[in-house]
Amino acid sequence: MRVLLTGGSGFIAAHVLDILLEHGHSVVTTVRSQEKAKKIAENHKDHGKDKLDFAIVEDIAQENAFDEAVKSEPPFEAVIHTASPFHFNVTDVQKQLLDPAIIGTTGILKSVKKSAPTVKKVIITSSFASIVNPFEGTWPEHTYSEKDWNPISAEQAVQNPANGYRASKTFAERAAWDFLEQEKPNFTIATMCPPLVLGPIVHYLNSLDALNTSNQRIRDIMQGKAKEEIPETGTFIWVDVRDLALCHVLAIEKEEAANKRFFITAGYFSNKEIAQVIEKHYPQYKDQLPTSSTPGGDYPKGGVYKIDNERVQKVLGIKFRSFDESIKDTVKSLQAVGA
Ligand code: NDP
Repeated sequence: MRVLLTGGSGFIAAHVLDILLEHGHSVVTTVRSQEKAKKIAENHKDHGKDKLDFAIVEDIAQENAFDEAVKSEPPFEAVIHTASPFHFNVTDVQKQLLDPAIIGTTGILKSVKKSAPTVKKVIITSSFASIVNPFEGTWPEHTYSEKDWNPISAEQAVQNPANGYRASKTFAERAAWDFLEQEKPNFTIATMCPPLVLGPIVHYLNSLDALNTSNQRIRDIMQGKAKEEIPETGTFIWVDVRDLALCHVLAIEKEEAANKRFFITAGYFSNKEIAQVIEKHYPQYKDQLPTSSTPGGDYPKGGVYKIDNERVQKVLGIKFRSFDESIKDTVKSLQAVGA
């Protein structure tokens, strides 16, 4: 298949790109600059322009940003939209989080409908952030599944960056389903809703300071930041980036994925367990790591919400990697950039 992948410079998109190429698809990926395109091309020297090419989209928050990128020869059959800001370092939630997420999502759907009639499938990277009810805390009596929607309001969205990020994913995903219902386009949609995504980095990284948001807790624990007290885990469920990336690709390959929302999680974890796995495989970090008596980083005493991840296993046939393997491989990849 000929596939347009947005946000090719990102942590998750780099794995999606690898799997698309492995499965024999030909890919155009959007990046913000020629320099970023060059770094990705250097990582894929064995693939010619017919297999991997680039389109520059500087800012997905601009209306019509994707109008040119969706045009290709040969034409696209599928689109995977991963680009969206995931960090909390913002001063203006509306401009820096909500606009790129929402306008980015509606923008690509409009451009595809207008200018890429051969596209039959659009996959959107949403998030557990659009499922979770953050106002219920750890909610032990509840089971999360694809049926749940974050009830966050427009007013709550702009109160702080954490609300802003969760709202950006919720409103963007809602806008995608609304588009499908109202516009009745020529393509189907599937949304991917992972919680915290951990796993090895394969994208270009200047330095450990530029590490993607979700792996930062592993870096921080390796660097001794949990030695006196382990930070609160926050979200207690996770998935490995390689499994999530495979889900994106299977969603364009399997008809049964059409018009479905997927809650993609491998299970539970705590920050304390991250430290334990690091120590097990990399005893050289022992002095930086917390001990069994270091406070914090554990599961809450009252328990945590339950999870129903049956759909992704049944429809996409995914088998999840273990937490042990994921942490082990992540640390190895961080060592390669100086950890
Ligand atoms: P990254 O920060 O590594 O990737 C984000 C990508 O989006 C980058 O390619 C970035 O480009 C691009 N991007 C952000 N804002 C803009 C913009 N205004 N214009 C153009 N491009 C933009 O994060 P992840 O790989 O972790 O996230 C990818 C997707 O997965 C996001 O949609 C995120 O919400 C979702 N997700 C991630 C989870 C996680 O734990 N990692 C959990 C759940 C969902 P550049 O690098 O040039 O800034």
